[in-house]
Amino acid sequence: MVTLKDKYSKLINAAKEKKKTGWGKPAQDQDATLTSDIVDLILSEAISNRASDIHLEPMQHCIRLRYRIDGKLYNMLEIVESPEIFLLARIKILANIPTDTVSSRKAWDSRFSMAIAGQQYDFRVATFPTVTGDKMAIRVLNKNSELVDLKKIGLRPETLSVLEQIIQRKSGLLIVSGPTGGGKTTTLYSILGRLNVPSVNIVTLENPVEYQIDGLNQCDINKKVSEDFTSALKATLRQDPDIILIGEIRDLESAEIALRASITGHFVMTSIHANSAIGMVERLINMGLERSLIAYALVGSISQHLVPRICDGCRVPYDIDPSGFNKICSQCGIDPNTLTDKIFKKGKHDIQYMTEEPVLAESFPFYRGNGCDLCKGTGYYGMTGVYEIVEFTEDLREAILNNAPIVEIENIAIMKGFQSMAVDALQKVKSGRIHFDDIYHILLEKIR
Ligand SMILES: [Zn+2]
Repeated sequence: MVTLKDKYSKLINAAKEKKKTGWGKPAQDQDATLTSDIVDLILSEAISNRASDIHLEPMQHCIRLRYRIDGKLYNMLEIVESPEIFLLARIKILANIPTDTVSSRKAWDSRFSMAIAGQQYDFRVATFPTVTGDKMAIRVLNKNSELVDLKKIGLRPETLSVLEQIIQRKSGLLIVSGPTGGGKTTTLYSILGRLNVPSVNIVTLENPVEYQIDGLNQCDINKKVSEDFTSALKATLRQDPDIILIGEIRDLESAEIALRASITGHFVMTSIHANSAIGMVERLINMGLERSLIAYALVGSISQHLVPRICDGCRVPYDIDPSGFNKICSQCGIDPNTLTDKIFKKGKHDIQYMTEEPVLAESFPFYRGNGCDLCKGTGYYGMTGVYEIVEFTEDLREAILNNAPIVEIENIAIMKGFQSMAVDALQKVKSGRIHFDDIYHILLEKIR
């Protein structure tokens, strides 16, 4: 396998050779060519390695190049900057960022486009002044990437059917929560892809518009259509929409407009930060929204995380120490043998419950990727989501109206078939799609 390091060395040696023989263009032009060749190499290798982000970090004696692939950072190369190689400056020029010393004392945010292997890519460049120089993070966006089909975002059939049920509604609010980079946008776009038919009017308010989709009226909130977010939202409502996507709810006022729109004949989708799908109710109450408004508006809530998927080319079973597995089952309230949610009369805070002796599961194999050519040795290929999705049906609405504590709402949901993210994640561990270690901390953090 020819690595990035090999290709880089080849470029450097060829340039040295050319200079020695004094053959070709003047030295200065040769340096510029070498720098731009290195930049091209870094970008095209990022694409062929399926990197989502490129990090260029100035260290004491070199620039460290790292790629984020399937959610994890990998060291790729150490580049020694010299008068001949002016890497960061070259990228700044591409992205229209000033290269003078004064400008480099502040953070910049810009982008440039480039065609690589016949595909058009957008590179979003963010610089950050550090004590050793400008650090650069570049997000890779494929402009040709198509909408991911709802069936392909990693939902198990039972979870998918809950979501399909929710999005058939003509009105109501569907909220997606999860960390930044947790796949919320992909989920929302996949739903829009499903709902995008000529008989409905879809209007979006986004920041920024990441994918342009035919048939949608997409508004980029960055490019100011209006003085502020709230008036932009009000303008959206005057466009006779059936379906509204609001990239992110920012404050109480816009949340209230979104909720009111969803009880007056619109299907509204948005994202708000919350710890769990059902915890969304608490989050909205804490924002200052009326309980009754929440109860009537909220029809669905999705909580999700992205995790790397084990490579199909090198998946192998391995023996684990069962204590981690038992800890997750015990603390998340999962039956370790059936991998289903237990119902508790008391909250998960209950001391008695937390000290309950873990029940050892009948062991099932755990899997990991050993590393092969397909995954370039990482053991992972691509990402998948772990989800929990709740549909707010009549009994849940009543529970919200009756001031029921969140645990009680959760218990009702479980009795109606709700499956927690812990169940989804452990099912995917069992089927060999994801590595247990990659969900361990996600699940521990979710425990209330
Ligand atoms: Zn592999």
